[in-house]
Amino acid sequence: MRKKYIIGNWKMNKTNSEAKELIALFKEELSGSLNENIQVVVCPPYTSLDMANSLLDNTNIKLGAQNVHYAPNGAYTGEISISMLKDLGVEFCIVGHSERRAMFVETDKLVNLKVQEILKNKLKPVICVGETLEEREYGKYKEVVKTQIEQALKNIDSLCAQSCVIAYEPVWAIGTGKNATVEQAQEMCEFIRYVISQIYEIQVSQKVSILYGGSVNINNSKDIMSAPDIDGALIGGASLKSEFIDIVKTQI
Ligand code: PEP
Repeated sequence: MRKKYIIGNWKMNKTNSEAKELIALFKEELSGSLNENIQVVVCPPYTSLDMANSLLDNTNIKLGAQNVHYAPNGAYTGEISISMLKDLGVEFCIVGHSERRAMFVETDKLVNLKVQEILKNKLKPVICVGETLEEREYGKYKEVVKTQIEQALKNIDSLCAQSCVIAYEPVWAIGTGKNATVEQAQEMCEFIRYVISQIYEIQVSQKVSILYGGSVNINNSKDIMSAPDIDGALIGGASLKSEFIDIVKTQI
């Protein structure tokens, strides 16, 4: 059985003191009740990673970052390296989020370099893929996502591929309140698994965790996460409040 992941992407929200309050609440409400079939991950801004690492020490809630630079160190003003993240107890790192692709020119090539750097350092990349509304309406959505997956996994061997987490996040569903239907999300997660099976083999594709993200909330999370190829959720807005706890509790 594949592990289920519920990952909170806080984006550019919460000061350190606000983050401290929320992490403390997650810890109090969740850390005693999680089992090995479910992995909860929180991805606060860089500025709260150190605090979150101390608070979450000795709990089964893990820490993720929202981005990383692909170089190990050097003259990259304003950037953060994987060793800096590792040093703060980070175990997961989101890559290729559609906001970064759209606003910060994160290309497929850059996504691949970041995935390689993350895996080289034994962290887990959470690779985001997904089509725009226009691409869906033109019937190009599978082609777009296939290319994103193939490019992200370029030069990644099958063992490393198994430790990647993929998040199917249709751009039109992110932060819009308009989630994909369970059928749409399942169709795409199944398709992504097929694409991975074509790059490697079926056994590898069966081991990769594929999540859905895009306006997940307490009303739709249970149905979405019960689909056979959907192994959890990447959650933005609802991860900034106690609703995140309620969503996790539907899975334990
Ligand atoms: C996200 O940013 O990854 C996301 C899924 O956001 P939201 O849940 O707010 O749609």
